[in-house]
Amino acid sequence: MKPKLHIVWFKKDLRLEDHLPLQSALGSGEKVLLLYLFEPELMSGKDHHHRHSRFAYQCVQSLQEQLQAFSLSLCVAYCPFETALEIIEIDYDIECVHSHLEVGNDLSFRRDLKVKTLLKQKGIEWRETAQNGIRRGGLHRNQWDQDWKNYVHTEIIPLQLNGTNTISIVLPSLPDHWIAAFEKDGHPEQKGGRKAALEQLRQFREEGSFSYQKNISKPLESRSSCSRLSPYLSFGVLSIREVFQVGLSEYNKGGNKRNWDAFLSRLHWQAHFIQKFESESRMEFEDVNRGYILLQRAENEAEMQAFFKGETGIPLIDACIRCLLSTAYLNFRMRAMLVSYFTHTLFLPWQKVAHFLAQNFLDYEPGIHYSQLQMQAGVTGINTIRTYNPIKQSREQDPKGVFIRQWVPELQYLPDELIHEPWKLSKMEEQFYDLILDTNYPLCRIKVEEENRKNSVQLWEHRKNPLVQEENLRILQMHTTSNRSVQFRAKAILND
Ligand SMILES: Cc1cc2nc3c(=O)[nH]c(=O)nc-3n(C[C@H](O)[C@H](O)[C@H](O)COP(=O)(O)OP(=O)(O)OC[C@H]3O[C@@H](n4cnc5c(N)ncnc54)[C@H](O)[C@@H]3O)c2cc1C
Repeated sequence: MKPKLHIVWFKKDLRLEDHLPLQSALGSGEKVLLLYLFEPELMSGKDHHHRHSRFAYQCVQSLQEQLQAFSLSLCVAYCPFETALEIIEIDYDIECVHSHLEVGNDLSFRRDLKVKTLLKQKGIEWRETAQNGIRRGGLHRNQWDQDWKNYVHTEIIPLQLNGTNTISIVLPSLPDHWIAAFEKDGHPEQKGGRKAALEQLRQFREEGSFSYQKNISKPLESRSSCSRLSPYLSFGVLSIREVFQVGLSEYNKGGNKRNWDAFLSRLHWQAHFIQKFESESRMEFEDVNRGYILLQRAENEAEMQAFFKGETGIPLIDACIRCLLSTAYLNFRMRAMLVSYFTHTLFLPWQKVAHFLAQNFLDYEPGIHYSQLQMQAGVTGINTIRTYNPIKQSREQDPKGVFIRQWVPELQYLPDELIHEPWKLSKMEEQFYDLILDTNYPLCRIKVEEENRKNSVQLWEHRKNPLVQEENLRILQMHTTSNRSVQFRAKAILND
């Protein structure tokens, strides 16, 4: 007789706190295996980047440290779930696999379908628990806001690890050269793990939150005024409910209510967009409003490559791309501006920028990513089409060009009034400021305002297409309870 075993499969929920699957497994009274898998198939996905695995690795290390205090361990392996199961089954009779329900990309969804079939064949129960208030399938939004509100207000059961009986097992391990690369210091990106997440939350509570709304759109200042919790939320190092309850208690203290109100609304958007994706995941590949599939777009390889390298000749666009490549973070407004430039100014299809951005955002969360991309690209049909002018943004959000100078050093000697539009330099000024256009910085030949105007007319005109109209109704019925729910304000969720 093999001993009975319950497995806790950690996915994008890399924490011990507010973790219902973990609590459910511990409550079984049987031996428990805590398992995290680096899955080769997901790691080779087009939206994946080494930086995501490194962040996950740091989170896993942090979990190990937490568990060591209770003489427990997490088993970390590099293999598909099926391989791990086969090895574990040699010595154990697996009764149940506990995990959070994952709203990931198409690859992880297909993986889950395979796992489901396999476990069913073997008579092993798979207990999947909803996370962050997201419903599986979710074909309508009835009751959704109320359920989410109930979820974020529910008390969190404190973690009890004493007396736990976990086992460890030998599974295929991560290649050594990867571990060495993951452990190398000096990355300018945010660091994974619970300790780092709590420190980030503390910093926002005590410092950043006071200038949250004032700086939210500025590329430089937002980096210290926004919460910067997104990677911790995407990898589940913190649950939405944990963060919500901290925010709510700060809101209730008074004094800084407006900022906390704005922050809490965004936690609701997080779930709103992920639910939208869960309900209609084809939006990873095609326009959520099918009417927009009919719209013809250009594909200019040279323009795309210049964009990906941060060599468009538009200072704020280039600064954002270079900053993103290096630090894996940009604030919301700059992300929206990049998408607007790519899809409205250059009129390229959003699908061509989706993987590039996904790879480079450390906080990549498919549910938010694809919903936001499509909203900013103006292909939902139900949202206002927002076209950003990067020169106007540059003048308003970085008037002295501090952010630009940091990331585009070629422009560092330009005076403030010229840094936003270097193509206006005379030949004499080029010599004077040590900037030879098309030699040490690209000369932008795109007339941004003209292109925006022309393409925006096309997008608005296309809204009249009967299929777009028909799809609008379908989208509204499926993804909103009423128009109000899209503009959900925190006040509605603050108290029961
Ligand atoms: C094209 C595009 C792609 C995006 N892709 C992602 C992504 O992959 N992952 C991701 O987490 N965010 C994404 N966002 C949303 C947003 O830009 C980031 O959540 C935010 O900039 C993260 O910084 P922060 O944690 O300091 O946010 P804060 O302003 O401090 O907000 C707190 C939390 O609320 C959530 N949030 C904030 N803004 C939004 C929003 N507009 N929509 C949904 N949730 C929000 C995030 O979880 C965030 O961590 C995207 C936005 C755009 C325009």
